[in-house]
Amino acid sequence: MSALLEADGLDVLHGHLQALHSVSIGVDEGETVALVGANGAGKSTLLSTLAGAHRPRNGAVRWAGRDVTALPAHRRVRLGMSLTPEGRRLFPSLTVEENLQVGGWVGRPGAWDVARVYEAFPLVAGVRDRRADALSGGERQAVAIARSLLANPRVLLLDEVSLGLAPVIVDQLYDSLAVIREEGTGLLLVEQDLQRAMEVCDRMYCLLEGRIVLAGRPGELSRDDVVAAYFGLR
Ligand code: ATP
Repeated sequence: MSALLEADGLDVLHGHLQALHSVSIGVDEGETVALVGANGAGKSTLLSTLAGAHRPRNGAVRWAGRDVTALPAHRRVRLGMSLTPEGRRLFPSLTVEENLQVGGWVGRPGAWDVARVYEAFPLVAGVRDRRADALSGGERQAVAIARSLLANPRVLLLDEVSLGLAPVIVDQLYDSLAVIREEGTGLLLVEQDLQRAMEVCDRMYCLLEGRIVLAGRPGELSRDDVVAAYFGLR
């Protein structure tokens, strides 16, 4: 059976530069999949192609077996695919709660509402009345993830979960992600921290210069294999 969200043989170009070469991955409902790779490997390009921000030159994006390659991003959100981009774009002059309310306007109806998001993200609940431009990096990331969740995704795509954040904040974010996962939401995570990626995921993929060079379950992969794939040492 095919995965809920599938990339099949994606070639993606930025101008003349080919960022992805025949990339195929899958994410199933309820599954946590980590995407790792060095800077410039193509991770953000893959996430944004899945979400509908880039059109591939070749290959297809499928959702529950249906070809959605030509479907605009907002229609994919309504199907249940939600992207939290790197950079955590929030509305700076709105409060956290107002930012969350904006998240609730798009997407699908479902179990997540602002009250449940506060339960899952104590970090967000603690700053609900604060303006977004007064938040720390970790708080911004938590709010951005929480806002994506309000679209009630079946698969949540998260770019650079822990980049630049203090370890204690990253732990809190991952506690919240565990709650999301228990709800049966699929997660596709870009994570720079290999150790963390291997601990939390059911399966992982490693991108190197736009190609998938390693795929598997963390229990079947050694850390040495992953490090070698990450740096292109084999
Ligand atoms: P990082 O961790 O640095 O964000 P990444 O793995 O997410 O890296 P991408 O951002 O997808 O990688 O970039 C893949 C390649 O495409 C890189 O060589 C990058 O310079 C190039 N690239 C990305 N976005 C664009 C763009 N809008 N225009 C031109 N080239 C781009």
